[in-house]
Amino acid sequence: MPGVYLSYPFCAQKCTYCNFASGVFPRELERDYQAALLEEVARQDWPWTPETVYWGGGTPGAAPRSVLAAAMARIPGREWREATIEAAPGGITDERIHAWRAAGINRVSLGVQSFVQPEIARTGRKHTAGTVARETALLREHGLDNLNIDLIAGLAGQTWTSWRESLDWIERLAPPHVSVYMLEVDEDSRLGGELLRGGIRYGAKEVPQGDCIAEFYEYAVERLAGCGLRRYEISNFARPGWESWHNLKYWRLEPYLGFGADAHSFAGGMRWQNVERAAEYVARWRAGQCARSAETPARPEEEKFFVGLRLMDGVRLESGDWARFGAPLRRFLDAGLLEQRGETVRLTSQGVLLSNEVFEEFVSA
Ligand code: SF4
Repeated sequence: MPGVYLSYPFCAQKCTYCNFASGVFPRELERDYQAALLEEVARQDWPWTPETVYWGGGTPGAAPRSVLAAAMARIPGREWREATIEAAPGGITDERIHAWRAAGINRVSLGVQSFVQPEIARTGRKHTAGTVARETALLREHGLDNLNIDLIAGLAGQTWTSWRESLDWIERLAPPHVSVYMLEVDEDSRLGGELLRGGIRYGAKEVPQGDCIAEFYEYAVERLAGCGLRRYEISNFARPGWESWHNLKYWRLEPYLGFGADAHSFAGGMRWQNVERAAEYVARWRAGQCARSAETPARPEEEKFFVGLRLMDGVRLESGDWARFGAPLRRFLDAGLLEQRGETVRLTSQGVLLSNEVFEEFVSA
């Protein structure tokens, strides 16, 4: 069941926690990017008919309707089983929703991150909980009820009270899908860089400790389960039947083609990636060059573990797995980070919290 990913890395502001290659760029670059993206899609010789489409960002929800419509018209397979657009709360209007629907969009992922005003303000975002409530109601009025809401555990200033408040809002709005990410600290975000340098900007001194973030996450798992949202992947929770078909492809090692800056692809036993920066993507297009920056053969035996173990259903062991991965499998089973039922291994609750350490062992095994 193949999919298509389109990257639109343009945003109204650069959020302090964001470590993507997205941001606020000149209008001229955005216009050229749109042309380059449409051309890349138009040139694609489709090896299969996609079943899902995913517009990620950045903020593709703010892309002009003409660009969305033109790109979607170049992708075969409409009506897709799932066609998602990521959007930031605050700009969702009747007109925009009409444009999305006309382009074939049938799922919306809202980058909410928090429902609590001081936390939202620190990230650089401008929405309020009221904005999200209004806009989810509007989406539903237009028949777009396949909604995801993103939350981040570990934002600056987050407390037990504020985290509960965000989860209370989830309960009230009852989206069928929620993603909960734990704050990532690295040099690629302004907040991450500040934290690593021991600075105080962006509320860095008020970022909860790692243990506390893990407790927030575990509490979210419980609260979301209470709302009927089952954790089906480390960061993803859904009512049964509302899992993201597109995102499942990444963990099930199904093929997908990516278009635009930093878009990844996996097809025909190969993995490749486009250049990361929007400016370089456009520069390549202007020069008539290919956007790909790297192409490597897939490693299905390893990927089955370090990608597939993200799914709570786990990974089915095959005959050669013990020979090749016996050492890490036994170690993590003994340590209680993995559990085995029949021929299936999966992460335990403790294993989820230490998942990166588990995955690393399968890459290097
Ligand atoms: S978090 Fe989303 S909206 Fe904010 S800068 Fe990153 S991609 Fe843009």
